[in-house]
Order: sequence, then structure tokens, then C-alpha cells
Amino acid sequence: MRRACGRCTLAGVAGRSGRQAWWEQGRAAGSALRHRLGEATLAWLDALFPPRCAGCGRLGSHFCPQCMASLDRLAPPWCDLCGQRLPASGRCAECRAQPLPLVIRSAAVLQGPLRHAVHGLKYRGHTAAARDLAALLIEPARALLLEGLAEEERPVVVPVPLHPARERERGYNQAALLARHLAAALDLPYDDRWLRRERATASQVGLSRRQRRDNLRGAFAAAPPATATLPVLLVDDVVTTGSTLANAAHACLAAGVPRVYGVTLARER
Ligand SMILES: [Zn+2]
Ligand SMILES: [Zn+2]
Repeated sequence: MRRACGRCTLAGVAGRSGRQAWWEQGRAAGSALRHRLGEATLAWLDALFPPRCAGCGRLGSHFCPQCMASLDRLAPPWCDLCGQRLPASGRCAECRAQPLPLVIRSAAVLQGPLRHAVHGLKYRGHTAAARDLAALLIEPARALLLEGLAEEERPVVVPVPLHPARERERGYNQAALLARHLAAALDLPYDDRWLRRERATASQVGLSRRQRRDNLRGAFAAAPPATATLPVLLVDDVVTTGSTLANAAHACLAAGVPRVYGVTLARER
């Protein structure tokens, strides 16, 4: 099982103004460096350059206690499949009409400081917050594992991949950063080779679950080892309609993975 990512690049800064490109290059280099360093070096760096909260900007931590306390955490009753809040347990209308092929659980609603932190992780190179944010995944992941898995089954933690061109441009895959920290925290195997993004897809904003599903059809290909019999725990930053995780799950199931689960930091609604 692979642990080091080895994917950090400084690509994606061409075509911007000199000052902006320089700043982004520095930020990308910092991000790239950070997730190659060991824990001891990171702690030393944090002592030397105090971290800033990804949610509110306060100095002192990557996601501060105030932002942590402000989270709108998700808890039952929720939809059995997609995990959205419901007045009573059962399935939401969308999952009754078109069941997802996996159970998804999320830590909190995407709003306030969490929205800001996820945006920073995804678009502004704030990768230093990944470990603190990944800690939010532990509870929903444990709940999923307790609900769905036999005690002896240890799922492989697999990040939802970006298309390689998008990952080169960004310099990292935020889902992979979260997944790696989650796997380490739960002592589960991590592997980002089981799933690939085969084609870049159009923006999903404003699309229904059905439209998103059609937009993503064939976007993923799974390549688990021939002998793989382990369930998969997919990790992503945000779930909206569940279509991305559903398409990724379909690819895993078609490749022989027995069961797929999904965990995300945040839910759009
Ligand atoms: Zn904060
Ligand atoms: Zn649902």
C-alpha cells in the first residue's frame, strides 16, 4: 500500500501576472513541501510559524476550537443512504426514487467557517489544514464502519480522484490529503491507485442528481488488485447530490469490490 504521494508539482502558474504567479508558486511550494514532511518537522514548523485557522483566520491552529464549536454537525435522523438530514429516519425522496449504490456519511453542513476552510483547502493551497479537517471525518467514518462492516473487515481508504490535468494544475488532490490522514488515524490501509478519473467533466453546479449522474457517466475507472476482496471507503471533501461518489462507487463495484462506503467533510444541504 502506498503512503507517500509524490505528486506535488509547481505546475499551473503560467499565464498569470508575475506577482500573482510568484505568490502562488510560493504557496504551492509550501503546500507541496508540507505534505512530504514528517510529523516532527511539521510540529517544528508550526512552532516557528504559528498556523492560522482555515475557518476564521485566527492565529494558533489550522482549524480553531471556536470554528470547531460552530459546526452544524450531522447526526441521525438522516437518510439511510445519502446521509442528508430528515425529520425521521428512512430514505429521502431522491434515494427512494433512485437509490445510491453506497451509504454516505458527512461530518457537518457546508456553511460558515467550514465552507471557508474547504474552499481554502481546495482552491487556495491551504493544505496545512488537511490533518485537522480530516479529524472531522473520524466520527462519521466510525459510524459507517460500525453500521455496515463486519468486525474483521478493514476497508481500504480510497480518495475520489481528480482528473490528472486538474491535479497537475492544483498541485495536489484535497480528497487524497484528507483520506491519507483519515487512514492513518483509523489505522486503515490507504491506496490511491484503485480509482482513476478517466475524463474531465463539465461543472456540476446547478445540476440535478440525474443530470449529474449523466454528466459523470464513465468518468471513473477502478483498478483494484485482482485479489482484492476488501470493501472500499471513499473519501471526498464535499457531497452535494451524491452523484460523484455514486459514479465512483459504480466503477469500484463493476471491478469486483464487494461493498463501497463514502465519507465526506461536508454536505451542501
Ligand atoms: Zn477558526
Ligand atoms: Zn437520500
